[in-house]
Amino acid sequence: MSHSDRMIQLETAVTQILAAVPPAVPEETLLFQANGRVLLEAVHANHPLPRFDNSAMDGFAVQVADLKAATPQNPAVLQVVARVTAGESLSEKLTAGTCARIFTGAPLPNGADGVVMQEDTRRSSNNPENIEILASAKPWENVRFCGEDVKPGQELVSAGSRLNANQLGLLAACGCNIVKVGRPPAIALMATGTELCESNEQPGPGKIYESNRVMLAAHASEFGASPIILPLVRDSFEETRRALVNAFNTADIVISTGGVSVGDTDFVKSAFEAEGGKLEFWKVAIKPGRPFVFGRLGQKLLFGLPGNPVSALVTFLLLVRPALLKWQGAAKTDLSRQPGFMGETLANTGGRRHFFRVRIDENGEVSCSGLQASHMLASLAASNSLLDVAPETRINKGEKVQVLTWQPY
Ligand code: AMP
Ligand code: MG
Repeated sequence: MSHSDRMIQLETAVTQILAAVPPAVPEETLLFQANGRVLLEAVHANHPLPRFDNSAMDGFAVQVADLKAATPQNPAVLQVVARVTAGESLSEKLTAGTCARIFTGAPLPNGADGVVMQEDTRRSSNNPENIEILASAKPWENVRFCGEDVKPGQELVSAGSRLNANQLGLLAACGCNIVKVGRPPAIALMATGTELCESNEQPGPGKIYESNRVMLAAHASEFGASPIILPLVRDSFEETRRALVNAFNTADIVISTGGVSVGDTDFVKSAFEAEGGKLEFWKVAIKPGRPFVFGRLGQKLLFGLPGNPVSALVTFLLLVRPALLKWQGAAKTDLSRQPGFMGETLANTGGRRHFFRVRIDENGEVSCSGLQASHMLASLAASNSLLDVAPETRINKGEKVQVLTWQPY
């Protein structure tokens, strides 16, 4: 038995895969293109947010001392000496007995120490230049302070983060428009199997529609990669070999599905080795997905996934996704854990860890998303997470669990 024939544990496999991933290569990108990308260097604020003291309301900027005992019956009467809208700024200073008409987001005039909202005022009937304030105000009421949100120098997003929509908003507010992110790997996706046909073809006898490439491409594209979809590969040594050569000519990472088992028509391993590739391992102790090939060709990587759609997905999520993230410099490469409790009893009676596809609902209740055989896609489509169940283990209804989700962030 050669070294690569051993069945290895999942964590060992992941460690070995991550160790083979080269350091991330930086590239610059506009914020508008950065969603899901991995930030390579922390971004710090170079000015405060808000940038200046400003009004939180439409109303009147005042000196609050002028309003001490103001009520509707006994309003404080102030002279309106200026008007400032968002985007403008006032040069004059407010003095006692005066106020400025102000709108949300407009800079607080010098001399003002509070804003009275419009609803607490009324026009003076005697003098149109005056305003009656119907309530007192606390100092700095309705004022948004310079720097209360973000201090200059503060870290906005840490290195290794996968940028999300809200972080992009924060970066934009702080005047950052270009970020340094990790270059995604060029990925080629190939599906092997003489039985496969394209979705726009009429399947002949014994043929099935190919479904792995689109599913894996969609997962990979969630964090910046845009995989090349290669033509279908029939089960022949020569054809598989040619397809691999072609794939490695265009890609850093080749993800294939099918043809990695022990059948007479499984050629991915032998064709890869014939092209000078080195197989690191090809069996991982998980269900579904035991036959899984990891190989290296120089700095390039081969992930040979099993053909069954569920096995392909589970091995992608557990073994390939971490590599795609690390390639781009991500600090966190594993799936997110979400706490929940079992809505039904579930047992793994086998000798390998079983990753059940499950659905966690908004109350945290976890249940099987359907039948669990590894060729079945309906339960795959109905699932939103995986549940890792140890060999010979039963998890009872009501027990606390953690599911693994691939939802971004
Ligand atoms: P294999 O890993 O090549 O032994 O294939 C295992 C099972 O998955 C077989 O039933 C194949 O027909 C099926 N299969 C393989 N590749 C695909 C694919 N790309 N799309 C859908 N089913 C597939
Ligand atoms: Mg096959």
